Amino acid sequence: MEILNYINGQWVKPEVSEYVDVINPATGEKMTQTPLSGAVDVDAATQAAAAAFPMWRRTPVQERIQYLFKLRDLLKAHIDEIARIITNECGKTFDESKAEMVRAIENVEVACGMPHMIKGEFVEDIASGIDELMIRQPVGVCATIAPFNFPGMIPFWYLPYALAAGNTYIVKPSEKVPMTMQYIFHLIEQIGFPKGVINLVNGAKGAVDALLDHPTVRAITFVGSTPVARYIYSRAAANGKRVQAQGGAKNPVFIMPDADMNMATTIIADSAFGCAGQRCLAVSLAVTVGEARNTFVEMICDAAASRKVGYGLEEGVQMGPVINHASKARIEHLIGVGVAEGASVPVDGRRAIIKGYEKGSFVRPTILLDVKPNSEIWETEIFGPVLGLMHVNTIEEAIALANSHSYGNQASLFTSSGAAARKFQYEVEAGNVGINIGVAAPMAFFPFSGWKESFFGDLHAQGMDAVEFFTQKKVVIQRWPREWSRKF
Ligand code: NAD
Repeated sequence: MEILNYINGQWVKPEVSEYVDVINPATGEKMTQTPLSGAVDVDAATQAAAAAFPMWRRTPVQERIQYLFKLRDLLKAHIDEIARIITNECGKTFDESKAEMVRAIENVEVACGMPHMIKGEFVEDIASGIDELMIRQPVGVCATIAPFNFPGMIPFWYLPYALAAGNTYIVKPSEKVPMTMQYIFHLIEQIGFPKGVINLVNGAKGAVDALLDHPTVRAITFVGSTPVARYIYSRAAANGKRVQAQGGAKNPVFIMPDADMNMATTIIADSAFGCAGQRCLAVSLAVTVGEARNTFVEMICDAAASRKVGYGLEEGVQMGPVINHASKARIEHLIGVGVAEGASVPVDGRRAIIKGYEKGSFVRPTILLDVKPNSEIWETEIFGPVLGLMHVNTIEEAIALANSHSYGNQASLFTSSGAAARKFQYEVEAGNVGINIGVAAPMAFFPFSGWKESFFGDLHAQGMDAVEFFTQKKVVIQRWPREWSRKF
């Protein structure tokens, strides 16, 4: 599959000399290469989107969503092909890839409710004969900069809402996983959006910086690591753009002594090792409270050790590789840091070799026992299948530990006590809270974002927050003197 840009309804080969290889992380084979588009390509996409905006904005909202209904049907019809591409370029299992696309489709479905969601407000007679109304209008040309770990889903947290609200759009996928959006844009081409309404630019930092600096781009959404999120937020905001930037995470889960240990173990193992731990909502610290330690530690070690690792398109495989060899080396290095800081490794996934896939970048599930608060391994997002275990004595200590972390994407509690659950959800500082849930990913009709270092911005992804983000409010005050109506 050749990776091209899609600009103004045409497939365009960017005039670049730099490319990044796209490697199947399970087999090690080179599948294609990503062209590193620059300012010229971004400018072309931006001009196309700007030219399409006046007409698209005037297209009635109920007509705009007809394109989304077609998009939804095409995504559903091609979900298996898309999932295979995701697995091949990103490494996760086929079922995980499909689940990712289900959430993408749900966002398209929710955005199809735009005729209702975009409604404004109206108050008659704020003074005699004077009415006041608020209307929501699109902001203009918008763009999404996406990470590698959900190549099919993450652009859909935003673009269906933006398009339905009358904006025009540019998607910049991760250069590590360009094939999924390339395929999806071939589906988008079949829908027949007017030229320039939706555009694709492939590249890395050069393309991102051009988007951040381009005066025509009015709003930017970003999902990726915290240092880049902070950079995107400050540079886009300094250029006067709307921006929301989702960052990294280090998600704790707390296991109370009254938790259902079988359920907790299964769900926590799925959260920690699903998608090879490369999920912003993956649990990465499991903290036993009081006597929970007596049973949980052994059970989670068994669950980690028994996970079937391999190529995600093979039957029965529960966990695929991490994204590349650089990531594998980084994860293995961080496990070493944990050991140097005093943790033990009862389940060690380093130096994994999978038969038949010797060139793959595999790390097996790993347990680090007795991670210390405030240590490097406690603070650092590993973004791999590594679960650190810790222990506290009370729920108060648990909440204090969670809240002392700089990240705040997700925190979970396993318990059968309503009082403990309520205290936890009330006091814990995280954007997503799970009670007996390992991956507290909000449905498309709820807002999605973290707190603290996991998010820079105000309005979140998905649902009504996306409608707010992709529209600007205009308030109109009208005077219609009563005596004028007496003429009729
Ligand atoms: P990343 O930050 O390396 O890259 C994300 C995007 O930014 C890519 O499109 C990349 O091309 C671009 N980019 C990278 N470096 C840049 C730079 N210096 N200047 C400008 N642009 C740059 O992230 P990643 O490795 O692709 O994804 C993994 C990270 O994303 C993890 O930290 C994970 O927690 C996070 N993530 C967060 C959420 C969330 O909702 N909070 C969701 C998914 C992933």
